[in-house]
Amino acid sequence: MPGRDTPCRHAAYHDAIAQNRARTVIKGNSMHTESSGAATGAADPLLAQACAWARQLRAAGEEVLLYPVSRLQRQFRLGYSRSFALVEALARRGEWAVGYGDDGTRYARLAAGGTGTPAAPYGDALSPPADRDAIERASALIAGADALVIAAGAGMGVDSGLPDFRGNAGFWKAYPALAAEGTAFMDIASPAAFDAGPRRAWGFYGHRLGLYRRSLPHEGYRLLRQWGEAKRHGYFVFTSNVDGHFRKTGFDPLRIDECHGSIHRLQCLLPCSPVTWTAAGLQAVEDGARCEWPGSLPACPRCGAVARPNILMFDDTGWIGARRELQAARCRDWLGQVRRPVVIEIGAGLNIPTVRHFSRRVVMRHGGSLIRINPREPHTGGLPGVGIAASALPTLAAIGALLGQPDA
Ligand SMILES: [Zn+2]
Repeated sequence: MPGRDTPCRHAAYHDAIAQNRARTVIKGNSMHTESSGAATGAADPLLAQACAWARQLRAAGEEVLLYPVSRLQRQFRLGYSRSFALVEALARRGEWAVGYGDDGTRYARLAAGGTGTPAAPYGDALSPPADRDAIERASALIAGADALVIAAGAGMGVDSGLPDFRGNAGFWKAYPALAAEGTAFMDIASPAAFDAGPRRAWGFYGHRLGLYRRSLPHEGYRLLRQWGEAKRHGYFVFTSNVDGHFRKTGFDPLRIDECHGSIHRLQCLLPCSPVTWTAAGLQAVEDGARCEWPGSLPACPRCGAVARPNILMFDDTGWIGARRELQAARCRDWLGQVRRPVVIEIGAGLNIPTVRHFSRRVVMRHGGSLIRINPREPHTGGLPGVGIAASALPTLAAIGALLGQPDA
């Protein structure tokens, strides 16, 4: 422990947290507030060990733990995803509450004496970003760019009311039938799930299809399109989201790279050919609770095998990426023309870092700068630009308010 003369380099945080000035983004997000025994993995021995560890820290007088994901990784020798899930599980069990400092540093506040009050972790706060300077810098970067690169992850859709399946709690609340059998998102979102039980796998994807068709993209999409269309070289969208919401907002389909595919396209499960086709004629599943495809299964028109969404899933060796490769080639061609791009990256986490890698590549190879909007991991990793620790819509709206008044 640092002594009096060598203050902890996080002293400012400890002060801010002690005075309740640090921003806590734990809110009552309905996707994350449910806490059943199954969802928290009450029988999970690792979770039990982690709870015991958290209690030891509390007993030793620790109030605030910085970087709890890294601490759990080191303590229990876990991978990032498992550790991340454990941080959520501990919060749900009331062992600690998770918040973020002004620059997005994650911390866990150990509840005094163990309140047993379940906290909702990672509810992406719909609060306006506190950092006014960062909003002004982001606005200036957009105004000075000749091209807008929009890089969007799951956090972009959250403000449209779409679920984000990062933790089992939110996922299992949406799909209680999967909770009952202990099926996690990574299990159902895989070609193996279509092999083992196509009716169940299609129950899940058919319901998501309906959800994405019904939901409306939030105002932030329209703002991005407006800024992009005003640029000399226009815009290009790179997104890991399969919801099709950029198309729905009127973005040019020839300026979108859907790096994980789209739920609105289908392919053969085998696959027997590299063909994909539209899902437009497919009736979506209304009942998410049962998670079961009701009628005859969607089938490949060539060979009659079960069809599946043209989405890159977990452990997926059968994904047909031809359509996406074409999109990626268009993106590369376009990037070759631009001189001063600004990458505006929204809601792209470290868990599946495809979008963040793309942003980095663009800034490293094509110059320009990065605006990273992310309530949990906003740091720009040394790239020129600005990180904003907030969610998509309020940040884009705040930038839009500045850009709309160029002389103000
Ligand atoms: Zn086929």
